[in-house]
Amino acid sequence: MIEKLLLTVLVLRTAWQIFLEVLNLFHSTNPKSRIPEVLKDRFAPDVLEKSRSYLKDRTGLKVVSQIVQMFVTIYLVMVGLPLLERLFMVYTPLFQAFLFFGALGLILYLVNLPFRLYSIFVIEQKYGFNTTTMRTFLKDQVLTVSLIVAFSLLLIPFLIWLLSHPIWWWQASILAFGFILFFWFIQPLLIAPLFYKFTELENDVLKMKIRELIQRSSAKISKIYVMNASKRTKKQNAYVTGIGRSRRFVLYDTIMGYPQDELLAVVAHELGHHTKKHIQKNVILSSVYATMFLYLTNFLYQSILKTNAFDVQRPHTIFVYAFLFISTISYFLEPLMNYLSRKMEYEADRFSAELLKSPTPLISSLKRLVKENLSNPDPHPLYKVWYYSHPAPEERIKALNQVQ
Ligand SMILES: [Zn+2]
Repeated sequence: MIEKLLLTVLVLRTAWQIFLEVLNLFHSTNPKSRIPEVLKDRFAPDVLEKSRSYLKDRTGLKVVSQIVQMFVTIYLVMVGLPLLERLFMVYTPLFQAFLFFGALGLILYLVNLPFRLYSIFVIEQKYGFNTTTMRTFLKDQVLTVSLIVAFSLLLIPFLIWLLSHPIWWWQASILAFGFILFFWFIQPLLIAPLFYKFTELENDVLKMKIRELIQRSSAKISKIYVMNASKRTKKQNAYVTGIGRSRRFVLYDTIMGYPQDELLAVVAHELGHHTKKHIQKNVILSSVYATMFLYLTNFLYQSILKTNAFDVQRPHTIFVYAFLFISTISYFLEPLMNYLSRKMEYEADRFSAELLKSPTPLISSLKRLVKENLSNPDPHPLYKVWYYSHPAPEERIKALNQVQ
């Protein structure tokens, strides 16, 4: 019963993913699709052509990767995982778990690698977004894999210990909470510098203007850093991170060429996230989500154990089945999470317009982004509801125009 249910959910999710991709592609690339009034001046025929072709390439890659991922997962569920379990049965329980997760991690990594390579070195390269060299890519891979191995060596013994209790979801939730805090507050300070170089902002005029904005928004941020994002991409971003005295404002170096008023509008948007406590809200939201997720995983874990489903016996294998099942279902919660995220983006946009006493600079920076990033000017409404963590540029500009 559970076996059939899992396979059904896996197939349904992939079918829905592909449906959304195809729907969005047809909606946005057919000759009759519209360009929003507010973006018309940015989409000259050649830019529009390029943005549609970029969308086609990315959609194609996504669809192929979603199909491959479905077949690999079905194979793992039906054949691969039980096989891996039996293969390592002669070792001690802890060593079994290390080998099992190591092998599973390696398989998943190798399945995803060609898609990552194609995305960076073929698609992003073709449209001039990629600045990652093969050397940087390889260095990143070595570093990422080392970090994952180090974390796994710490976590797997803990997981095995947890699974020896009949009810483990609330203990696991505490651990998850620790992880969420780490992700939001510690990772940007400890892990990000392993990948990027952060230098204090040198431009004194700009520094003074940013400081003034920080003061006016009554945030307490003492340091302003520039991050060498251009080593990997041309895409732009900025964020506030850290706690207490280590709190800092970080600007991607890719954004430094912006006209100053637009750059300050982006800074004000980020200050909006900070002042409206969006990180704290995200921490609470992810913790509730993780607790619910682990509770359901624990519940399913018990059912698999009782019914002997999938013909597996070891706690770590059963855990992987339960985890996979719940994460497949949780895909259908994405619209809810994205809805909340879009709400925060509107708040931050509004904050920026109010702090600068004008929405104009943020609007021009959004228009610039749309053109430079070859964004899809008119995504399908359902696609936006499902996947967009930020409102589409057209909607952001319309909302900003109402701030006045
Ligand atoms: Zn934002």
